[in-house]
Amino acid sequence: MLDVPFDPETRIISRKDQPPLIERECDICVVGSGASGASAAIEAARAGLDVILVDGLPSLGGQAVNSIIGMFCGLFTPGSDGRQLTHGIADEILRDLGATGDLHITRGGVMKVAMYNEIALGRWIERTIVAAGVKPLTGAIIRGVNLDGRRVASLDIATRHGDVRIKARGFVDASGDATLTWQAGFDCRVQKTGQIYGSQMLIIEDFDDAKRPGWDEMAARIRERGEHYGMMRRDGFTASFPGRNIAMVNMTHIETPLDPFDAAEKQIDGKDQADRTLVFLHNEFPEAFGKARIRAYGLPGIRQTRWIVGTHQLTIDEVRAGVKFDDAIARCSWPLEQHHNREGYVWEVFPEDHIHTVPLRSLTVAGADNLVAVGRCIDADSAALSSVRVMGPCIAMGAAAAHALDIAGEGSVHRIDISLLKQRIRANIQD
Ligand SMILES: Cc1cc2nc3c(=O)[nH]c(=O)nc-3n(C[C@H](O)[C@H](O)[C@H](O)COP(=O)(O)OP(=O)(O)OC[C@H]3O[C@@H](n4cnc5c(N)ncnc54)[C@H](O)[C@@H]3O)c2cc1C
Repeated sequence: MLDVPFDPETRIISRKDQPPLIERECDICVVGSGASGASAAIEAARAGLDVILVDGLPSLGGQAVNSIIGMFCGLFTPGSDGRQLTHGIADEILRDLGATGDLHITRGGVMKVAMYNEIALGRWIERTIVAAGVKPLTGAIIRGVNLDGRRVASLDIATRHGDVRIKARGFVDASGDATLTWQAGFDCRVQKTGQIYGSQMLIIEDFDDAKRPGWDEMAARIRERGEHYGMMRRDGFTASFPGRNIAMVNMTHIETPLDPFDAAEKQIDGKDQADRTLVFLHNEFPEAFGKARIRAYGLPGIRQTRWIVGTHQLTIDEVRAGVKFDDAIARCSWPLEQHHNREGYVWEVFPEDHIHTVPLRSLTVAGADNLVAVGRCIDADSAALSSVRVMGPCIAMGAAAAHALDIAGEGSVHRIDISLLKQRIRANIQD
């Protein structure tokens, strides 16, 4: 026990003595710290820029960490020795998490994927952000966007510790829901009919991995018996991480509306669905899952809600044709993976030599000179987006946004020297 005297006296502070607004200035402000935003922030800081990274959650990592996605998809080409298409922070994550046993390269269906320990990834992102000199601002929600002609001038942000205004030369919208673009007053897109379902991820423990049924057997049993357990989605899988005694369960389809009250309600509904999947697993595969318990629920996993109207809308035909755009900034071979049907998803796998690309113009908003969107809110039709929103291309888009804004400086991202950008991100666009 320490022998240190304790001063019991208090002092009074008054709201009127505090500044009404905390103001900060930086070169680049990134909103959203998921795979795309973290990549943008780290790349920009390493390019020598002063960066603030804003996120509405109290912790960094976006869905990759907080929704417990658990697998990097879209990093490799199809086929047995899929080669890596995206580098940058992807290389460091594979190296560092691999070295500590927190990464496991495996197959998701016919595709090569990198499973990861989400706790380790969360800490990796935090440490790397800090080491790169990025200033994080968490628990911070955008309330307003101030424009100066064609430029986003500043963001007004609410935090539990007071209001903040951030001025910057360039902004990255990595919010997933195109929040920055929307609040700046630019038109956005949503799904025209129906909706794109998200999923409530579940982590279970105390199961017998050796007796776990295969992917096909599991899917067949859900189709056959899912209705009996009130399961909305009639497919899905469990994936165990070697040595962790846990498995991820991805078997739900949840609604992810933009209305705030609906969103809160559907979040609880998602957990109810996840609970029903556990009853299914207990009863249908008692040898493997009879004793399984829930260790954690992820935050609601949101696939597609609202995205930008870019200078170019990436289409399903361009993806299928493997178009190599002149202003390509990311490559991807991930299948079209459409979750528009509550009972399952549509999966269209490409041949082994297939690669499609994402043009910079799908990340830029026609009316804004210093705004670049990345990740799951870039401009694409719903089917094309279902392929390029996975985390491999998200990381590549983040890197491209950082360099595009750096090159643009006080000018416009619509008029940068594309060859200079391509030189900076060449590892992500050529072998
Ligand atoms: C259930 C599910 C399973 C998936 N499985 C895989 C998979 O296995 N592999 C794979 O690669 N991809 C998978 N995906 C897709 C992938 O997870 C996402 O598309 C990707 O993580 C998107 O990253 P992002 O950086 O664009 O956005 P996000 O990770 O969604 O990050 C956005 C961030 O912005 C913040 N934000 C939002 N609004 C505001 C605001 N107003 N103010 C401040 N901050 C805000 C959020 O808090 C969040 O942290 C899956 C998606 C889902 C939903």
